[in-house]
Amino acid sequence: MRCTVLGAGVSGLSCAVRLLEEGHDVEVISDRFSPDTVSDIAAAIWYPFLTAPADRADTWGLVTYAELERLTTENPESGVRMRDGREYLRREVEPPAWGDDIAAFSILDREDIPEGYVFGWQFRAPVIEMPLYMPWLRSRVESLGGTFTQSFVKDLSEVPGEVVVNCVGLGARELCQDNEVRPARGQVIFLEQDPGIGHFDQQPETLTYTIPRSDVTVLGGTAQVDDWGMDIRPEDNALILEKVEALWPELDRSKIIGGAVGLRPSRSEVRLEVETIDGRKVFHNYGHGGAGVTLSWGCAEEVVELISQSA
Ligand SMILES: Cc1cc2nc3c(=O)[nH]c(=O)nc-3n(C[C@H](O)[C@H](O)[C@H](O)COP(=O)(O)OP(=O)(O)OC[C@H]3O[C@@H](n4cnc5c(N)ncnc54)[C@H](O)[C@@H]3O)c2cc1C
Repeated sequence: MRCTVLGAGVSGLSCAVRLLEEGHDVEVISDRFSPDTVSDIAAAIWYPFLTAPADRADTWGLVTYAELERLTTENPESGVRMRDGREYLRREVEPPAWGDDIAAFSILDREDIPEGYVFGWQFRAPVIEMPLYMPWLRSRVESLGGTFTQSFVKDLSEVPGEVVVNCVGLGARELCQDNEVRPARGQVIFLEQDPGIGHFDQQPETLTYTIPRSDVTVLGGTAQVDDWGMDIRPEDNALILEKVEALWPELDRSKIIGGAVGLRPSRSEVRLEVETIDGRKVFHNYGHGGAGVTLSWGCAEEVVELISQSA
């Protein structure tokens, strides 16, 4: 089938790869490409964060975990590595449903929990180094015969192809008049110092993380909903450093080398469903919030399945 994928972030490129592997023809149309997408700013660790619905997200997340883990050994040039991390919480909660299905998951002992926190868990998860991963995904699309066209799409009915896969992220606000998609602004700091393991507090209101990559450690974060500001704000940097130092007191501020801002495509829930527009099937796959990388392969596989069912 002739498939047009709209959007060249992690969602669009993952769908393009899976569609090509299934034997479809694929053209990716997007107004921006790597390194200028939100996906390029993702920190990025596998972790279902700021996303819903929980049951579908857990399934998509576990499919993605398995694929990313496979890439660490079979395609190390993709920039995916397994790293250990610790999540700290200010109250005791039920451990996540996916805890039993990922590597090295265990509840932390009291002495491993920093001051101010009462509970937590340790886990091993893929860290996806987006400066390597996004070009790798694009080259995978190209090597499978996919093509790229740069264009801003104003109307879904103008797009070529027998089916359309809509992965425009925050762009769906305008393209689909979907006001449920809202920016959740994320600011990060790049630091040339390795914390050894990742430290996390992934509650939206106290969001704190250190994600060690091979080039830098990414420190975060913020999740400011309905904030469209793209400038790096000194006051956000100050807050991020204060929060990170509470989890990792050895942080050396002289090792800071930069930062970035991205707008997560947040939505009450991911929109992954089919809609018929002017007699043609459009498969929506957007609104992944803070977990677009975490859910990418699981969502791509569901899109491909929906397309085969509809043929
Ligand atoms: C600071 C920060 C840290 C993050 N950390 C993580 C993390 O650790 N783990 C994780 O899983 N996720 C993380 N995320 C979230 C993740 O980045 C997003 O969920 C993900 O990138 C969404 O991918 P996407 O492909 O759906 O959207 P995008 O990357 O935004 O791609 C959308 C594409 O659609 C194109 N487009 C939009 N409108 C149109 C149009 N009208 N016509 C043509 N093209 C269009 C755009 O140009 C772009 O190519 C983080 C995000 C931020 C900002």
